Amino acid sequence: MAGDYKPHFDVQITPNCGYVYSREQAEQVVREFETRTTSKYSCYKSRSSFGRTDLCKSKHRVRWEDGNKDACTRMGFDGVPFIILDSKILDCQHGVDRHNYRKTKAQSDAHRDHDFKKRRFRVQGTKKFGCEAKINMCEVIKFPQFAIPIEIDSRKRRDVAAAKLKEALQENANLGERRIYMYLPTPADHTTHLNGEATGMSQPVDERIVKKIRILVGEGVNNVREMGRHIRQYVKNELFLGQELPPCTNRRFHPKQVDIRNHMYLATIESRFSKFDQENVSAKTGDWEKKYAEDNFFYRPYQEGCITVRTTSAAEDKKEKNVNDKSENVNDDNAKRENEDEAKEGNDDQAKEEDDMAIGLQEHVNLEKSLLFVHQSAWQRRLHCLPLRFSSRASLGKMG
Ligand SMILES: [Zn+2]
Repeated sequence: MAGDYKPHFDVQITPNCGYVYSREQAEQVVREFETRTTSKYSCYKSRSSFGRTDLCKSKHRVRWEDGNKDACTRMGFDGVPFIILDSKILDCQHGVDRHNYRKTKAQSDAHRDHDFKKRRFRVQGTKKFGCEAKINMCEVIKFPQFAIPIEIDSRKRRDVAAAKLKEALQENANLGERRIYMYLPTPADHTTHLNGEATGMSQPVDERIVKKIRILVGEGVNNVREMGRHIRQYVKNELFLGQELPPCTNRRFHPKQVDIRNHMYLATIESRFSKFDQENVSAKTGDWEKKYAEDNFFYRPYQEGCITVRTTSAAEDKKEKNVNDKSENVNDDNAKRENEDEAKEGNDDQAKEEDDMAIGLQEHVNLEKSLLFVHQSAWQRRLHCLPLRFSSRASLGKMG
């Protein structure tokens, strides 16, 4: 554990093990643990219902102690029966690569195809180093009403109490106390990589910040520098209000401008090709076809890979422009004016930097895969079928 940080379990059992009463509190403990130890865990195994599992959905065994040697839950015999509902495991982000097979297969398939694909250059191939550190969570329901005194424990007493408990559960499924037992790894569990503040730069941007960027892009913030200011305020005044800020080397809460730019770009693209909107148009087209049987409709949704895009900063655009201008030695007024503007900006560093951050997109559109919507009304179709002189007169007449 980093420094004097103590996880906020509702009930602590050992320094890195305890339990909480709700899924929200469990999420809060994980988030805080990641922040304070500058680590990141990703979900390896989980059901969406974890923390709110329905007891009646399947049969469960009544237990008195946890026979699992995994030691994640550390539940010894305390006289109180319980039922294990579900478990969840979070791997260290530098853990085992569970998509290795898919990745190697995709690579070999790509080699088989002869078409050229542009690839990103990655300085670091993978983040996965086979680290075995894990956060283990276990959702259980304890039934203190059916407890037996530890001193007079016997096989028979356990069986009687368990039978009573099962009977009671058939009448009322809301008995008992729901707990999520949590086991957090220690620094020694991270065996294959450095940990702590030294790994701050390998932290991905926090999900809440990514969401905030999406919202702000939707509200019209399209300047990276301005977005950076919003994010700093958001981290300080909302995520860590009244708390100590994480070190500035932690990229998760202090994203670099390149991170902000990438997430803004993704948000722009996502909003432009929202699947949800396309489904709406598709459904609407079906409605219109029925309602206006005489009209023609054609709808082709946007297809994956239709647009290849790359982000460029305004500065890059300008540089390119300048190079072109110089090589052609153009002396026209526009170019002059632009150069004068740039000279002015040169005096004002802040303004220039802001320009450097402005986002630009260079796109190449494959027209056969792009979104297309065509509507031809019955009137337009009839007009199209008329001989040219009539149709031109008709449209002129209409216009007049
Ligand atoms: Zn690790």
